[in-house]
Amino acid sequence: MEISVNLREKLTHPIFSIIAQVAGEENVPCYVIGGFVRDLFLRRPSKDIDVVAVGSGIKLAEAVAARLGKQVKVHVFKNFGTAQLKYKDLEVEFVGARRESYRQDSRKPIVEDGTLEDDQLRRDFTVNALAISLHPDSYGELLDPFDGLEDMRNMLLRTPLDPDITFSDDPLRMMRAVRFACQLEFDIDNRAFEAMATNKERLRIVSGERIADELQKMMATRRPSVGFRLLESSGLLELILPELVALKGVETKEGIGHKDNFAHTLLVLDNVCDKSDNVWLRWAALLHDVGKPASKRFDNKTGWTFHNHNFLGEKMVPSLFRRLKLPLNESMKYVQKMVGLHMRPIVLSEEIVTDSAVRRLLFDAGDDIDDLMLLCEADITSKNQERVKRYLGNFQLVRTKLRELEEKDRIRNMQPPIKGEEIMALFDLPPCAQVGHLKMAIKDAILDGVIPNEREAAWNFMLKKAASMGLKPVDSAELPR
Ligand code: ATP
Ligand code: MG
Repeated sequence: MEISVNLREKLTHPIFSIIAQVAGEENVPCYVIGGFVRDLFLRRPSKDIDVVAVGSGIKLAEAVAARLGKQVKVHVFKNFGTAQLKYKDLEVEFVGARRESYRQDSRKPIVEDGTLEDDQLRRDFTVNALAISLHPDSYGELLDPFDGLEDMRNMLLRTPLDPDITFSDDPLRMMRAVRFACQLEFDIDNRAFEAMATNKERLRIVSGERIADELQKMMATRRPSVGFRLLESSGLLELILPELVALKGVETKEGIGHKDNFAHTLLVLDNVCDKSDNVWLRWAALLHDVGKPASKRFDNKTGWTFHNHNFLGEKMVPSLFRRLKLPLNESMKYVQKMVGLHMRPIVLSEEIVTDSAVRRLLFDAGDDIDDLMLLCEADITSKNQERVKRYLGNFQLVRTKLRELEEKDRIRNMQPPIKGEEIMALFDLPPCAQVGHLKMAIKDAILDGVIPNEREAAWNFMLKKAASMGLKPVDSAELPR
């Protein structure tokens, strides 16, 4: 049943009455449509406005810009038939209503002029197909041919067309479905979800960059685990990140099982998301156990082991990032480091927490030590409350020691107190293993607490060490300034 809804009161931004004036004068039917309208209902702030004109979007944009004043420039994209203008804090995009038809091998459609309803039909979800008229004759009227408002009330993502068609035409929409499920906390309609499973192979025609884009948006939401669960159950995850699917399941031998590492990974991800918005720490949580399947062994005495899964995982990160079209930069290195180090605090807390081990952890983690501790605490997902308490208590101890030792020895960003060049000059050495050996000995002495992290102590230590290696200084071995 079509209910007449008028939303004139909701269009509070002055841009809308300006567009309306121009639309009246030029007599062009036009509508604000898509994400902006959806977010109006959801009370989500939105700075992107899409306007569809039944006619030329470019002409309408130019007329609106002329009305706004000389300082407002229109950017025209002739190939796409769109025009964009920036006004105050808004970005407004104008386009002519269009009809689309698709070919098998591409998600780029053949486009023709069409009616408003043609344009709404080509949209991904009914809640993204809502339009509000901006023409003065019907200003504020909601155009909702597919009951998008009802879906909005039910928090449901449903496609305007048969979902098999919508998803097969442009398979990126399956990724968008999952992303919106996380971002808006909506459910994917059952039929649409089935169609995702049926059409999953179509994802192969979507570029890696677009998939990465959706994954990143998902990762920034409150509960990305919801998305990964949907990707897994629809079969899409197998195509995007099979290494995560490989974590799924429990194997039992001689009556001994191990935990389901996929379920565990998502719990760790949830725990990290509760504490931090850093998407890269969230990626580290997602990938922290990715080396487990390849390192899994069964030992008659100790049961299941995953020795060195952290190092294996660390090695896997660059190829995963390359394949996923995620940036191969400092962020990737950070994720690698987190995956590689994620067992260190827990091993530490299982033994007697020595100063030396804490200094080494601090040295290796550097400024990322707090993130690492957060990841490690998130990694405690045991159902045994006693165990959880014990581990968290031990971590508290590690944290206290970290603080004390950092205050005393400033290890976090420790620079070698004596440079390689100085050692070479002092003993008249070319770059060689002996120089490296001396530098390493100084570092170890500081981390083991043999000497304090001070230049003079390091210098004296180095002289002794060098003498034991048969090296003699060429000049006097006084402490240089
Ligand atoms: P967000 O801006 O948060 O990414 P959005 O829904 O506004 O969400 P946009 O990419 O800005 O998404 O697109 C604006 C509108 O264009 C959408 O609301 C939808 O109606 C339509 N749209 C975008 N991408 C697609 C697509 N791949 N298939 C069909 N319609 C789409
Ligand atoms: Mg948008």
